Amino acid sequence: AGDLVCLTQDISETYRRETELEEARDRAEAANRAKSAFLANMSHEIRTPMNGVVGMSELLCETALSEDQRLFAETIRSSGEALLTIINDVLDYSKIEASKLRLYPEAFDLERCIHEVTVLLMPSARDKGIQLLVDFDLFLPTRFVADPGRMRQILTNLLGNAVKFTQNGHVLTRVVGLERDKGHYELHVTVEDTGIGIAREHLDHVFGEFNQVESASNRKFEGTGLGLAITRELIQMMGGSVWVDSELGRGSSFGFRIVLPVAEPREEGLGLPALEMR
Ligand code: ADP
Repeated sequence: AGDLVCLTQDISETYRRETELEEARDRAEAANRAKSAFLANMSHEIRTPMNGVVGMSELLCETALSEDQRLFAETIRSSGEALLTIINDVLDYSKIEASKLRLYPEAFDLERCIHEVTVLLMPSARDKGIQLLVDFDLFLPTRFVADPGRMRQILTNLLGNAVKFTQNGHVLTRVVGLERDKGHYELHVTVEDTGIGIAREHLDHVFGEFNQVESASNRKFEGTGLGLAITRELIQMMGGSVWVDSELGRGSSFGFRIVLPVAEPREEGLGLPALEMR
């Protein structure tokens, strides 16, 4: 009977601990949800007025009465845009955490998307004397089905980092691929730079959130440390995978592999084969 009492006590003790653990887990999840909702709301509330600041400063740039005025308005605009980028990152990150980020796939031109992102980076690359190169396999179709905005975001993050962390030399974006199943291509996109590189011990962490190789005290480069975490998440949501290869002082190569359906000609409304569209 004594044994039975002990056993009953053990069972009730285990049950009590499990219930406590479950309650703690529920509380942690609720706190996490509250944090995501707060970040999402706050980001949204900040984004709306910031759009006003950026929009109006653009108008001011165009109508400035003197070169000084134009320069001031330009500074407001670029600072506002930098802030918007940070806010959008925080918003995306909180959506990812809350599993609320959705993809909206449609037909788009991947080669054009890469060129557009590259052209936007030209001013900062030109200032540093970096050559921006694009090598899109000529035998590949250019139109695929994926979320064009999110694909642009992935490329902007990878190319933007490559330019940011390179002082001279080049940044080369290369796309190669092979047809897998009918109408589906496995694409390998790599962004290679001749920049500062990443030490071996940091390589495993660069895709983690809020991770920056530079410590906060001696930071030379601005950023939230969220870009690559979001990039990896977006690529994984598209069914792909991402990697990095780097050597300190020589440069880095970030790449991702993804399988995408080719856009049907009828979706393009033109009926032209992809190659003729270049
Ligand atoms: P951030 O907004 O700080 O750039 P990311 O998530 O995009 O955040 O990158 C995380 C860190 O990885 C960067 O702070 C930088 O230390 C390192 N990193 C990313 N891309 C490169 C690159 N092309 N060359 C060297 N370091 C890089």
